Amino acid sequence: MAKPTVTILGAGVTGVATAWYLSQAGFDVTVIERHHAPAMETSFANGGQISVCHATPWANPATPLKALKWLIRPDAPLLYRPTLCAEQWRFLWRFLKECTHTQADANLVALVSLGLYSRTALLALIDKLNLQFEQRHQGILHFYTSHTEYQNAIAPTLLMQELGCHRTLLSPKQATDTEPALSSLGDGLIGATFTNQDLSGNARLFTNELAKHCAANGVSFIYNTTITNIHRQQNAISHLSLNQHGQNITHQSDHYVVCLGSYGKRLLDAIGVDLPIFPAKGYSATYRVKDPACVPQVSLIDDEYKLVMSRLTSDDDKLRVAGTAEFNGYNTNLNLIRCQAITNRVQALFGDVLDYDEPNYWTGQRPMTPSNVPLIGKAYLGLIWHGRHGQNIDNLWLNTGHGTLGFTHACGSALALSLLMQGQTPPLAFDFTGIKIPALRTGMSSL
Ligand SMILES: Cc1cc2nc3c(=O)[nH]c(=O)nc-3n(C[C@H](O)[C@H](O)[C@H](O)COP(=O)(O)OP(=O)(O)OC[C@H]3O[C@@H](n4cnc5c(N)ncnc54)[C@H](O)[C@@H]3O)c2cc1C
Repeated sequence: MAKPTVTILGAGVTGVATAWYLSQAGFDVTVIERHHAPAMETSFANGGQISVCHATPWANPATPLKALKWLIRPDAPLLYRPTLCAEQWRFLWRFLKECTHTQADANLVALVSLGLYSRTALLALIDKLNLQFEQRHQGILHFYTSHTEYQNAIAPTLLMQELGCHRTLLSPKQATDTEPALSSLGDGLIGATFTNQDLSGNARLFTNELAKHCAANGVSFIYNTTITNIHRQQNAISHLSLNQHGQNITHQSDHYVVCLGSYGKRLLDAIGVDLPIFPAKGYSATYRVKDPACVPQVSLIDDEYKLVMSRLTSDDDKLRVAGTAEFNGYNTNLNLIRCQAITNRVQALFGDVLDYDEPNYWTGQRPMTPSNVPLIGKAYLGLIWHGRHGQNIDNLWLNTGHGTLGFTHACGSALALSLLMQGQTPPLAFDFTGIKIPALRTGMSSL
């Protein structure tokens, strides 16, 4: 019997992981991507953390006040530039509704549940395929330079422990014992939280390595090809319109999975599917390591500046520092004030142990949902939301909206989607879209 055919739209980390698990499940998989290779957009140079136990949603009760204070600082971790774009205002309104204690807790439960499932899947995949992507298994340490923020971290840490995370509170001494490079903070270091089971690595390398395994297992990749339209006839997708080297062509399969990062929204709007996704631009800076002994080995989160730091070492030795968020539409221009703010902070923290002369600056668009929780499941007409369903589009599936945590959640999201597409129930407490699984409801909001 012929295998069912499925087209994955987009070859970022999410699309490639989806291609892998679907090909393993017996689907005949094709991936369509506008660039010449995988991971050329948001999965290109991210913070590199597989951050299951530090996955606090951006929308939480403390965020609105902090964001107001940041509004006037050009180098602030979060920058909101109001535009005339209605999408942006709708996103803001939905985001604010997620900032209550109840919603933040429910979203955290969903993120951790998906994260634990995902980390197990990732570790199994690393073992199975002997994947090498500059990974380090030295844990993630979140350090605080403010008493209030450290106090605020205690409740989520306890909740995460209840959910099965090995996240512990560390005194300043325990923090510098775990990562000696932090001793440069002196009395400024108030405390930390640490999880030894989280890891870090190079998301682009991971995606490229996995794509090679996909290709070796029969997945077809169509590169340099832009999806220009998705065509719906009643309750099914009939075909895609593509532009390949200036030629307009069509493409057909039995199923379609949307993994287009921030760019699925407009294509799906046109067929009546409303994805609540808006891009949040982030920055990274990659520095060459000059003094290996004095550069952090453990992956770090700097609470005050909202930066993550991961050592990436193979032939060359680098420190990747990433963070900040700009809500100002789809542009990926580098704002040099924000780039310099990252370098200033890193230099103040660690001194001259890195080469600051030619940092590699990069920006990417995080595909944010208001809740920070990705949209995984079946597409239907109307607003897509966790646990909601409507008039389904039978052969259209979603694995998108991974926001700040796409690398962390890629394997689990893809494995869960492949199970859903085979009519099975993934074993985690998560509200999939367009699918009724009453036993697994986690009580997330309806918009
Ligand atoms: C600064 C920064 C730091 C981050 N740090 C971390 C971290 O430490 N840990 C973590 O887990 N996550 C992190 N993230 C988030 C993570 O990078 C994203 O969630 C993830 O890369 C999203 O993957 P994706 O596959 O959904 O999207 P993408 O990687 O953007 O892939 C979408 C693909 O679709 C293609 N595409 C789009 N439109 C079309 C079209 N019309 N036709 C054909 N192809 C199309 C694009 O070219 C792209 O390749 C960070 C993000 C940023 C910006």
